[in-house]
Amino acid sequence: MTRVLVVEDDPQLVRALKINLQARKFEVVEAGDGATALRLAAARTPDAILLDLGLPDMDGVEVIRGVRGRSHVPILVLSARHTSEEKIRALDAGADDYVTKPFSMDELLARLRAATRRREAPASPAGFPGIATDEFTIDLAARKVVRGERTVRLTPTEWHLLELLIARPGHLVSQRRLLLEVWGPAYSEHTNYLRVYMAQLRRKLEANPSHPRYLITEPGMGYRFEP
Ligand code: CA
Repeated sequence: MTRVLVVEDDPQLVRALKINLQARKFEVVEAGDGATALRLAAARTPDAILLDLGLPDMDGVEVIRGVRGRSHVPILVLSARHTSEEKIRALDAGADDYVTKPFSMDELLARLRAATRRREAPASPAGFPGIATDEFTIDLAARKVVRGERTVRLTPTEWHLLELLIARPGHLVSQRRLLLEVWGPAYSEHTNYLRVYMAQLRRKLEANPSHPRYLITEPGMGYRFEP
């Protein structure tokens, strides 16, 4: 049974989440504040965490940092905040994904299933240091991408971007993080670089670059690799 830690201080939402999750055979552990969340995340080793960012005792981002100090458990943020800056802070702290309140229960459950499935089943068979999709194969050790019969030539910058995205399949990586890691602190606002390089990667890897299947844009937020 998949155990989900629900960190939320709104009792009505907790009740709704609990009913829906239990109906789908999830085990639910509840925490109404950040301190309880950190304690239960360690004591009950949940398979996933649903985390409200606005908690009575601390910022949800602090909970993410606390949990990430010792666990890779998928964290799905429930955000009532409309600014993308807050969501990006949460992603940069180590959250895996977010849904914006009010959300549909179907959407939340789909994201939760995706997050826990990714954890259970790595995108590649054990022992293969890379990623195989229907369209292309990425061999990390050989730093080689093969599409069909042909080797795809990537520039060092394209390779670096791709590596960051495929490191955690399905995980939304913020624009800021990509810019910081690939180009450095002086370029953290240069989102136009990302647009240019992502377009190049899509031309090289996607069957239909204008409707990408693997390299997905989350507008204003970042990018994700969907295996
Ligand atoms: Ca709240």
